[in-house]
Amino acid sequence: MYDCKSRIATEFINDEEILDTLEYARKNKSNRALIDSLLERAKDCKGLTHREAAVLLECDLPDENEKMFQLAKEIKLRFYGNRIVLFAPLYLSNYCVNGCVYCPYHHKNKTITRKKLTQEEIAREVIALQDMGHKRLALETGEDPVNCPIEYVLESIHTIYNIKHKNGAIRRVNVNIAATTVENYRKLKEAGIGTYILFQETYNKKSYEELHPTGPKSNYAYHTEAMDRAMEGGIDDVGIGVLFGLNMYRYDFVGLLMHAEHLEAAMGVGPHTISVPRIRPADDIDPANFTNAISDEIFEKIVAVLRIAVPYTGMIISTRESQKTRERVLDLGVSQISGGSRTSVGGYCEPEPEEENTSQFDVNDTRTLDQVVNWLLGLGYIPSFCTACYRSGRTGDRFMQLVKSGQIANCCHPNALMTLKEYLEDYALPDTRQKGEALIAKEVQNIPNEKVRATAMEYLTELHHGKRDFRF
Ligand code: SF4
Ligand code: SF4
Repeated sequence: MYDCKSRIATEFINDEEILDTLEYARKNKSNRALIDSLLERAKDCKGLTHREAAVLLECDLPDENEKMFQLAKEIKLRFYGNRIVLFAPLYLSNYCVNGCVYCPYHHKNKTITRKKLTQEEIAREVIALQDMGHKRLALETGEDPVNCPIEYVLESIHTIYNIKHKNGAIRRVNVNIAATTVENYRKLKEAGIGTYILFQETYNKKSYEELHPTGPKSNYAYHTEAMDRAMEGGIDDVGIGVLFGLNMYRYDFVGLLMHAEHLEAAMGVGPHTISVPRIRPADDIDPANFTNAISDEIFEKIVAVLRIAVPYTGMIISTRESQKTRERVLDLGVSQISGGSRTSVGGYCEPEPEEENTSQFDVNDTRTLDQVVNWLLGLGYIPSFCTACYRSGRTGDRFMQLVKSGQIANCCHPNALMTLKEYLEDYALPDTRQKGEALIAKEVQNIPNEKVRATAMEYLTELHHGKRDFRF
């Protein structure tokens, strides 16, 4: 039976409820009165239920779909302004004991090179990332209790936070590692991680079991209940996601929202972020083998409806997507993107030798971080390297309250400008610097609070004179 407060995976992600929801959405896909009323209500930015959002996703009325996209853009602007937060993934190890059929790190793959970074190698990678201008990382590892135990991950986090090279610093380390125990989540929290990220891949239990035939990840319940354990271990910022293209997108879309509703109902705080990756080619993986791949049009609609359904949850898109697709979804709802990414184990410090291949997927958007920053500036966005909330203790429900009330914008906007200023001073190429300075000069005037504006201007001057790391 469906129970969003239950701690049992098949009760809070209930197959019957999802199928019922999809049936309800199908029946109402042309119900103009209902769709209009949902769009009207969603204007209050309080979100929609999984059932309501499913109707919007299924809607086949072109004019209503147009209204939907417009509303997504308005909500995006209201909560996130024109800021886009930047981050980079750092792959520590690709040893894996699991048998996921869509990932080249699966344990049966004999053609991929297995690699695990030493602490010295991590330090070199981090210096290279700092020299690009990154401040926020997402750590990635395969699951392997022998080659990549929790102690290794903790030591790596410690190494990363302690590297101070020139003006560089990694100020927030998010972690994407396999589902683990409450005790291990507690250790990650103590190590000072930002968000704990774990993708469900698919919420459909039967498909999940087919896609994960062997290894600890094949346990659907243990994987699906991981965020509850993470929160029990004290991590209050968690990031969820599915790998679109593995299962029916409608099913996973509803599952994703039910997961968000469950976390809010049972644990008191919804997910900090939602990621929307689509399957990509990799070493022994051909996306053509996955027949549920979704088109760009559907992908854009998923982003737009998620934005309307969970306005206060950050949305992430990686370099799996092309520049063109990324550009289309930025104003529809995406608030964070990666830039200048390497998906190999190592590879920032020096490119991977040709005879080696350790990548999890082929990067689609291969531009450098400076090119990405320049592109965002050209589109009128403020590239932000802000990490202030977690460092100021604004996490979990404290963070959500600020976001839901809209007050967070008083921090995000000046912080975006100040971290962009740091980037321009320390790392930008001349054209990027010129565009960035012009944008800062214009945007600083848009800080509504007079006192905050004056302080931000003061800080910007100090940043120009060499001081670093101001935040609201
Ligand atoms: S998706 Fe994760 S768990 Fe599965 S094979 Fe790849 S690295 Fe291992
Ligand atoms: S102020 Fe907080 S919410 Fe805003 S960009 Fe910075 S870290 Fe994110």
